[in-house]
Amino acid sequence: MQRIGSFAKGVWVEAGPGARPVADAATGEVIAEAGNDMLDVAGMVAYAREIGGPALRAMDFHDRARMLKALALHLNAHKQALYDLSFTTGATLADHGFDVDGGIGTLFVFASKGRREMPEGHVLVDGAWEPLGKTGAFGGQHVYTPRLGVAFHINAFNFPVWGMLEKIAPAFLAGVPSIVKPATATAHVTELCVRLMLEAGVLPDGALQLVTGGVGDGLAVLGPQDAVTFTGSAATAGVVQGGLPRGVPFTAEQDSLNASILGPDVTVESPEFEIAVKEITREMTTKAGQKCTAIRRVMVPEPLLQPLVDRLSSQLSKVVVGDPRAEGVRMGSVVSLSQRQDVLEKAALIGREAELVCGGQEGFAPVGDAEKGAFVAPHLFVCNDPDGAEHVHGTEAFGPVSTLMPYRDLGHAIALTNRGAGSLVASLVTHSGDVAREVVQGIGAWHGRVYVNNRDSAKEATGHGAPMPHLTHGGPGRAGGGEELGGIRAVKHYMQRVAVQGSPDILTAVTGRYVSGATKTAQEGHPFQVRFGDLKIGRTLTTETREITLDDIEHFAEFTGDTFYAHMDEEAAKRNPFFPGRVAHGYLILSFAAGLFVEPNEGPVLANTGLDSLRFLKPVSPGDSIVVDLTVMDKKSRNDDYGEVRWHASVSNQNGDAVAEYELLTMVAK
Ligand code: NAP
Repeated sequence: MQRIGSFAKGVWVEAGPGARPVADAATGEVIAEAGNDMLDVAGMVAYAREIGGPALRAMDFHDRARMLKALALHLNAHKQALYDLSFTTGATLADHGFDVDGGIGTLFVFASKGRREMPEGHVLVDGAWEPLGKTGAFGGQHVYTPRLGVAFHINAFNFPVWGMLEKIAPAFLAGVPSIVKPATATAHVTELCVRLMLEAGVLPDGALQLVTGGVGDGLAVLGPQDAVTFTGSAATAGVVQGGLPRGVPFTAEQDSLNASILGPDVTVESPEFEIAVKEITREMTTKAGQKCTAIRRVMVPEPLLQPLVDRLSSQLSKVVVGDPRAEGVRMGSVVSLSQRQDVLEKAALIGREAELVCGGQEGFAPVGDAEKGAFVAPHLFVCNDPDGAEHVHGTEAFGPVSTLMPYRDLGHAIALTNRGAGSLVASLVTHSGDVAREVVQGIGAWHGRVYVNNRDSAKEATGHGAPMPHLTHGGPGRAGGGEELGGIRAVKHYMQRVAVQGSPDILTAVTGRYVSGATKTAQEGHPFQVRFGDLKIGRTLTTETREITLDDIEHFAEFTGDTFYAHMDEEAAKRNPFFPGRVAHGYLILSFAAGLFVEPNEGPVLANTGLDSLRFLKPVSPGDSIVVDLTVMDKKSRNDDYGEVRWHASVSNQNGDAVAEYELLTMVAK
């Protein structure tokens, strides 16, 4: 029997006193034991703070993003081992796609976003700088810096891999070490994943620790620089939060009675009907319905109720349930016999208010030992009085259980959906923009995500129940009020936003990003001849001046076809409140600016990839002269060969007034 380890203070500690048994979900055979009452969880917290945190923070955002990518690549190369073990949790091969591949994919997304959207530095700039005085000599800038504690991630049993990876990816990117505590029932899969990650050899000591089994009184030593991120039932969330010292940041991802609405525009003949059938069947059967985002309630226009019951019954009756290792099985078991009992008890509560129209345990013959394996048949209910019912909106049967309920009109569907009292996700199947708008306005405040699907999006739609690393996962009210994922937003959950005040030079030094008004340094030679690594923030090129003539304006107008009256017709231009008479095109100014600052010879600058924040500030009249200041504002490495350089371009006239400002993006060779 496997003795599941905990990884504490740099060493593996085997299961020991107080260990609990872990059984194969499909056979009931005890395969492992987890937990050790002697585990020094408080010492692990100290180790993470003192060893892991400083090591992670010594790396910059890009170092940590590369580390995530290396972890993802290593896990990808060894995912078969994770698949093989995951069968013991009752999950099918298709389910592993969600847990194992979904987790690895999340690491890849954060690795890529970290490199593209975060600086090659130690603080993350938030928004533009705010000048606070008349001359711009003093101002403020919001930045994020990593918390100095540990992130304690407590996970539910249903996603032993994804549940861990989706939490550690943003925490690591932020520079915060993590202690992971998986649910005991599937801790052996998490343990293997941790072993694989350590084997990759890229994690600094103390960055990742693992507690299998109970946490003892380890959470009592947490403080305000730490964070607890909990996923599980609302009841446990309350217990965990209640036991934390004051001031420890706590987020909860809890149970959720997610709904799906068939729009009133859907008919049996429309493609949306089949889309709904597919989504509902998939959500009921993937992971045997053990997904926090699964569809538990379906709002159906009254006339579609019976056709939908018929179609879903036909689909669900084809689903072969059983041991996920057996040939032909499409839906595995739930995670344990106690979980099966829990699901059946909850289904019985729902059955008091709703009629079972398909499935159920009676006559159910799974592939495998029906007594010892934690098999649950799909249960499809219809509740004909959803307004008077309580359990169908409030009891989460964490298995293949869903309830259909008829609605009269869209307002009724919205009201019923919101009876979930806060959900992770709701889906809407409609081809009508009007319906989508009304539903989003009606249910948005009670949901973390609204997923709209129809014939136009079905091919690429990611699925009602799949949280995407790019988008927020979490929901208000009953769903826990937490927020996870959502791209770089998720990284900020592990950082502190601080408003730093000072001069432009100080703020440039703090952020590593040029702040308008900071000292510009002129150097010999053209900056376009300098390689990526040698370009210093603040290095500035001031160009020659160039006069703009009426001939230039007319030539540009004819050449480009832009003969807008403000450039061509003196009287009409004068009638316009913005112009003193005929003026130069904004794009002429940009083009002449480029003509002034580029270095024509082949060199390290490889390409101009775009402009950001372009503003035309003052008109340029014939006879005016322009000059450009081009300053290195920010740099981000892209790969071993080149990086992105962001230049601040300021174009001014003969009086020193700024006429245009923008940020120019270039790729520069290393
Ligand atoms: P659970 O029983 O609430 O357990 C969740 C976690 O809390 C487990 O790791 C559990 O460890 C741990 N735990 C229990 N008591 C604790 C304590 N006193 N101190 C510290 N940790 C403690 O939930 P579950 O049965 O694993 O998961 C099913 C539930 O999770 C469902 O309600 C589902 O909706 C929800 N869920 C939500 C999301 C989401 O993102 N919103 C995702 C997945 C699941 P042990 O296993 O060792 O007891």
